[in-house]
Amino acid sequence: MYHETNKMIKKIEHIGIAVKSLEQSNKVFERLFGFSHYKLEKVESEGVSTSFFMLGETKIELLEASAENSAIAKFIEKKGEGIHHIAYEVDDITTEMARLKSEGFELIHQEAKDGADNKRICFLHPKSTNGVLVELCQEKIKQS
Ligand code: ZN
Repeated sequence: MYHETNKMIKKIEHIGIAVKSLEQSNKVFERLFGFSHYKLEKVESEGVSTSFFMLGETKIELLEASAENSAIAKFIEKKGEGIHHIAYEVDDITTEMARLKSEGFELIHQEAKDGADNKRICFLHPKSTNGVLVELCQEKIKQS
């Protein structure tokens, strides 16, 4: 039995969209939203270049492959451009990964890793989540 007051998954942090050209898509989304992205970031370990747009409490993350073997390159090759993942914010990613694993979800990697936008992240395999790639993310504690 789950209780509303003790939410494990807090909100949609961002939606990731796979694009062929970040430069072109930034312009498309700028026209769509009426404002521009607030950050550009390369995540070398994932082979992606990203941009982020802030929409209230939720962000839109555009992802372009920066390496041939990146997951985004493979995704676009198979499915074309489009929604790639939904990212949910959690308070404690390690605890949440353990909970979801015990619930039978398949984690793509067993330890949280560094993602874009100052986050610790983890992905759940889409075959255990009705075909939707799920990202968990936890804000990293800012060093002062
Ligand atoms: Zn993401």
